[in-house]
Amino acid sequence: MVNRLHRLELPPAVPAASSTLAATLLDAMQRYWGYDSFRPLQREAMTCVMGRRDSVTVLPTGGGKSLCFQVPAVCSEGLAVVVSPLISLMKDQVDALVQCGVPAAAINSTMSAEERGIVASQIRAGELRLLYVAPERLLMSRTMDFLTAANVQFAAIDEAHCISAWGHDFRPEYRGLSILKEAFPQASVHAFTATASTHVQRDIAEQLNLREPVMLIGSFDRPNLTYRIVRGGSGRFDKVARLVEQRRGESGIVYCISRKEVEKVAAGLEGLGHRAAPYHAGLADDVRHRNQEAFLEERLDVIVATVAFGMGIDKSNVRFVIHNGMPKSLEHYVQESGRAGRDGLEAECVLLASAGDAMLWRRMIEGGEPESVAGAVRALEAMNQFVDGAGCRHRAIVEYFGQEYPDDDCGACDVCLGELDLVAEPVVLGQKIISCVARLDQRYGADYTAKVLVGSADQRIRSSGHDQLSTHGLLSEHRQQDVRQWIDQLVSQGYLARVGEYNTLEITPDGRELLRGERTPQLLKPAPTGRSRSQRRGGATADSWEGVDRDLFERLRRLRMELASERGVPPYVVFSDATLRDMARRRPSSLTALLEVKGVGEKKRDDYGHDFVEAIVEHCTAEGVAMDQGEGNGGSRSRVVPDEPFVPAASSLPAFELFRQGLGIDEVAERLGRVRSTVVKYLGEFIQQEQAMDPSPWVDAAVVARIEAAYEQVGGERLKPIFEHLGGEVPYDDIRIVLGCLGNR
Ligand code: ADP
Ligand code: ZN
Repeated sequence: MVNRLHRLELPPAVPAASSTLAATLLDAMQRYWGYDSFRPLQREAMTCVMGRRDSVTVLPTGGGKSLCFQVPAVCSEGLAVVVSPLISLMKDQVDALVQCGVPAAAINSTMSAEERGIVASQIRAGELRLLYVAPERLLMSRTMDFLTAANVQFAAIDEAHCISAWGHDFRPEYRGLSILKEAFPQASVHAFTATASTHVQRDIAEQLNLREPVMLIGSFDRPNLTYRIVRGGSGRFDKVARLVEQRRGESGIVYCISRKEVEKVAAGLEGLGHRAAPYHAGLADDVRHRNQEAFLEERLDVIVATVAFGMGIDKSNVRFVIHNGMPKSLEHYVQESGRAGRDGLEAECVLLASAGDAMLWRRMIEGGEPESVAGAVRALEAMNQFVDGAGCRHRAIVEYFGQEYPDDDCGACDVCLGELDLVAEPVVLGQKIISCVARLDQRYGADYTAKVLVGSADQRIRSSGHDQLSTHGLLSEHRQQDVRQWIDQLVSQGYLARVGEYNTLEITPDGRELLRGERTPQLLKPAPTGRSRSQRRGGATADSWEGVDRDLFERLRRLRMELASERGVPPYVVFSDATLRDMARRRPSSLTALLEVKGVGEKKRDDYGHDFVEAIVEHCTAEGVAMDQGEGNGGSRSRVVPDEPFVPAASSLPAFELFRQGLGIDEVAERLGRVRSTVVKYLGEFIQQEQAMDPSPWVDAAVVARIEAAYEQVGGERLKPIFEHLGGEVPYDDIRIVLGCLGNR
């Protein structure tokens, strides 16, 4: 993975005063990444790196950890070594850096000796700012010897929780990193992770031998994610299918517990015409790899996967994560659902959970190593409580990880959105259910108990005489599935227990207290209607579609896809969704205005600017949408007058020459190797400059007549009325050309 170096002038090494330090960092962020402000803790983390002070930075997924070491690397002389666990992760990051004009490379086992040699000579020549390397390669004595001679300024450890056996993803090869402080005494070491537990955070600092590290712990809340929980084990596939259908065409992940389930759901979704594929450890390497690539490159919308999928997936525009089954811990849930919305735009997480999932996990856990059972059971119980809780989901997650949650209403979970209601009289309801369990002598399971409660006349119930019980039909006004769910909730909240081979229900001491009216369970019912998301109060990015021209967004997305596949990089490496939205909101008509868009730095402006501005100008002119909108006044459809006219690129001049020679549009396009739409734009400029009045060299005479007639009828202020007047049969290009000539008469 050797990347061509882009020789950009790097900002000078940093002065000491901190306000100028911040300014230097911001300047580099703006130039290379097109961002104009710090996210929470980024400034502090960058300051530690610049001051070569060891640090541990904990930010949630999507919090912007990478920039915390990348920006300082750009602002420093010398080399930053970045330790990253997965080759795919490195490749993405290096690609993204090179796209921004930052000299970065990776060395790994997939490269030839020759390729590695090139990187080595770049390092020797001081041409690289960042070197990505996997821990096992870094620790090879050859690499260490070489780097000791290089000017290593600091090391950044990505996914640093991998060093801790307490974490969820321990990697023994990370342990060797403890020698970094000794091997590079002049360099500082900075650990980055999204892992929340304080135990792991401390362990990271210890294992890495950090010297009085600054601990920067961000909030674990992800305000742009909306959490919803759907209970019940039946009709799972239909639920998944409905959720995916509502999000057709968007990027999403569906997690399943088993490989078999993955295959089934993937096939089912494909059968419904979704671009979906499976991913699990049982698939052949090449199939897995192919599916992953297709997802990253947006040739697939949905990946259906086991937990094997996700580590090292940097795709920032995953819009939804559905869990088709409950994960075994809240740590896992947060990790997996956290793959949604890394770009900071709103994204949805839906968890389908049933009591059956918990049972499945319990069986698996109990079959495991005895010393790990207790911890795993505790983690599972916490997960269960989360699922059966009736409070704000954001709050529940944040508090689980030991932080306080400041808001009463997150505006982004099913509870706060009022989509779920608490049952009005949970005590009475709970008592009815538990007394039925008692009447059944605690010898039956949940399904049977639910049937008795709703008054089923099943053969089995009648033959056991249970239709004669006083509790038979006690809840006949409710649906059996709802009663069944309340039973599950009572189990999860510890009022009932499932025992024995047949999971018969037993009343716990808490359950007896409930019978005496001393406890109040939280029983939820699905509400018939919910407040919609647009009505919600809070939520960080509720307005992120505001002012965005959706058609233009889709067009820019297609353009991004073309450019990305031309260059062999994933689309989000070209521009993120957030950047495309901002583009479709501001609709810049010039390269200068394009720089205002969040996520457009100088390098990307040079590489892609022309194509994107061209697409924007074309779309807005045809559709009559105003361009060059500032931050606040997007969205208004008004006159077609760009504040800053599109300056014809020097590249249009050869086209003018060919038009003068009488060549048609397609011929010119072919000669110049440009797409037709670009040539039509040149032609527009040509017609204006030459004051051409006769469109016949470019448009068929009969079509010219039709357009002119339509012009008489509806006027020519905008193209769309003419287009519509002609029933959509005449292309915009032709209309534009004819109107251009009419204007010159
Ligand atoms: P993490 O590694 O913490 O999961 P990333 O470093 O991948 O997060 O950042 C997530 C996304 O946010 C990326 O698309 C990144 O470019 C963007 N980002 C990071 N910092 C900023 C910032 N200050 N302003 C705007 N976008 C940012
Ligand atoms: Zn909430």
